[in-house]
Amino acid sequence: MSYTILIVDDSWESREVVASLLNTAEEYNIVMAENGQEAMRKLGSQSFDLVITDISMPVMDGLELLDHLIKEMPSIPVITYTGFGDLFGIRALERGAEDCIFKPFDARDFKLRVAKALKYSNLRKYQDLLEQKNEELRLLSVTDQLTQLYNRHFMQDALKREFARARRYRVKLSCLLVDIDHFKQINDKYGHLQGDSVLREMAALIRNTTREVDIACRYGGEEFLVLLPETDRRGAECTADRLRRGVETIPVFRVDSSELLTDLKISISIGISAYPDPRIRKEVDLVALADEALYLAKKQGRNCFIVA
Ligand code: GH3
Ligand code: MG
Ligand code: MG
Repeated sequence: MSYTILIVDDSWESREVVASLLNTAEEYNIVMAENGQEAMRKLGSQSFDLVITDISMPVMDGLELLDHLIKEMPSIPVITYTGFGDLFGIRALERGAEDCIFKPFDARDFKLRVAKALKYSNLRKYQDLLEQKNEELRLLSVTDQLTQLYNRHFMQDALKREFARARRYRVKLSCLLVDIDHFKQINDKYGHLQGDSVLREMAALIRNTTREVDIACRYGGEEFLVLLPETDRRGAECTADRLRRGVETIPVFRVDSSELLTDLKISISIGISAYPDPRIRKEVDLVALADEALYLAKKQGRNCFIVA
C-alpha cells in the first residue's frame, strides 16, 4: 500500500530534511507546500493520507492549518513539529493533532511516529467504511426494494412505537390501508413489469401526498399501509381523499416504449382507522379495523374510502 504525505514548511531545508527522513520508505509519495494556505490548496485537489506540518510559518501557520483540517477534513491525521519547545507542541495536541515531534529530529523516532499515525488513520478509515456499510445494510433491511418505501418488517416496529407514543401521550394516530383496485387485471392486461411500474408510481404518490412525519410502507403485493401520527379521523379522511384523487392523475408510461398508457385507469380503495377508539386496545387492532373498513370499501364498489 502506498501513502501520500503532505509536508508543510516555509523553510526549504527543513522540508528536504523531513522528506529525506521519509524517502527511505518506498511506499511514501511526498508532496510539499510552503505554508498553510498552499497546503489547503493542495489538499483541495488531491487526497492525502497524512499531513506533517511545521508550526511557525508565514501566511497561515501550522496551528491554523490544523484547525482547518480538523474542521474540514477530520479523517486526515496531522503531525506537527516545532523547534520552539513544549508549549507549541501541547497547543497542537490540544487542538487535535495526532502527534507532535520536537526538533532536532531523531530519524528512527520520526519514522516510527509517522508509521503509527498512518496505521491509526487506516484503522479509522476501515471503521468509517464499516459504519457506512452497516448503515447501508440497515436501510436495505427496512426498505421495500420495488418501491423504496419501508417494508412490512419495519412497519411492525413503527406501529408498536407510534401506538405506544399515542397511548402514552394521549395523542391521535390514524392508519390508512390502501389497496389498488383490480390490480390483477392490470397485471393480466399489461404484464407484470407494467404492474410493477404502477406500484412504483403509487409509492411515489403516497410519498408526495403524505407528510414527512407520516410513515408509509408496502404492506403486501399491492397494499400500502400509512400511519398518520397526531392525525384524527378527519385529517385521515382528508389524506385518503387526496390519495384517491391523486391516483387518477398518475401518468403511466409503457415500460418498453415510454408511451403514455391513456387507457390504463388506476383507482384505489382505502380503509381508515383512527385512535383513540374503544375498539383499539393494541396496535394490531388499528390495522385490523382499517382492514375491515377496506373490505367494506371494496364491497361498496371500490374507488372510495371508508372509516371503520
Ligand atoms: P381488488 O380490487 O379486490 O383489490 O382486486 P385485486 O385484483 O387488486 O386483488 P387481488 O388481491 O386479487 O390481487 C392482487 C394482485 O397483485 C395479485 C398479484 O398478482 C399482484 N401482485 C402482488 N405483488 C405484486 C408485485 O410485486 N408486482 C406485480 N406486478 N403484481 C403483484
Ligand atoms: Mg387490490
Ligand atoms: Mg390486495
